[in-house]
Amino acid sequence: MEFLFFVIGAFFGSFYLVIGTRLPLKENVITGRSRCDSCKNILKWYELIPIISFLIQGGKCRNCHKKITLSHLFIEISSGILFLIGYLKYGISYSLIIYLVLISLSLLIIVSDFKYMIILDSPLIISSIIIMIVKYLNYGMHSLLISIISGLGLFLTMFIIKLIGDKLFKRESLGGGDIKLCFVIGLSIGYRLGLIALIFASFLALPYALAQNYLNKKNELPYGPFLIVATTIIYFFLHKFVNLLIFFF
Ligand SMILES: [Zn+2]
Repeated sequence: MEFLFFVIGAFFGSFYLVIGTRLPLKENVITGRSRCDSCKNILKWYELIPIISFLIQGGKCRNCHKKITLSHLFIEISSGILFLIGYLKYGISYSLIIYLVLISLSLLIIVSDFKYMIILDSPLIISSIIIMIVKYLNYGMHSLLISIISGLGLFLTMFIIKLIGDKLFKRESLGGGDIKLCFVIGLSIGYRLGLIALIFASFLALPYALAQNYLNKKNELPYGPFLIVATTIIYFFLHKFVNLLIFFF
C-alpha cells in the first residue's frame, strides 16, 4: 500500500504539472498530447512515466537533448512522498481525502501561481465540491453548513482586506484567485484556523518576498502557494493548532 500511494502520488504530481502549465494557456489538458517544452516533439508513453523516464533519459529530451527542468522531478517525487505520508498518518479515511485535496491544490497552485501568477478556478471548484461531500458524509448536514459559512466568512474577510489594501496602496493589493482560495481554506479548516492560516502564510512568504524585493526589485509575489501550504500544514498538525487557538481566544 505504501508503495502504491507513492506511485499514485507521483502520477498525480505529473498530472498537476500538466494542468498547472497548460490550463492557464487555454490548452486542452485531456486530449492535448504532452510535448517537449523546447522542440515541441510529442512525447511517447514511455517518456511520460513520472521519475523513471526522467532518470532513464538522464533529465534530457530524447529528441532535442535539451535539459528537462529539475522542477518536474522535484514535483513528482514530492507528490509521491506527500501522498505516502498522508496514507501513513490517516489510513484509508475521510480525513485522508481532505488531506489529498489540500496537497493536490497546493501542488497545482505552486505550479500555476509561480509560473503565471494565476490560480485556476476549476481546481478550486472541484476541491470545494469534494470537501463539501466529505464533510457531509463524515459529519452530517449541520457540520457541512458550518463549513460553508466558514468558507464564505473567510472569503468575505479576505475581500475586505483587499478593499482596504487597494485604498492604502492605491493599486491592486490581492489577486482574485487568493480571495476565492480563501473559500476553500475556510471550508476545510474552519474560520478561526483560516485566519491563523492567513497570518501564517504571510510569515512563510516573508523570506521569499524579501529576496524578490532585494534581488529582483520586484514588489509583487504569488500569495496563493503560501496560503494553501499554510492551510495544509495547519490541517496536518490540526491538534497542535487547535491548542494554539484555545490559547489565543
Ligand atoms: Zn525536445
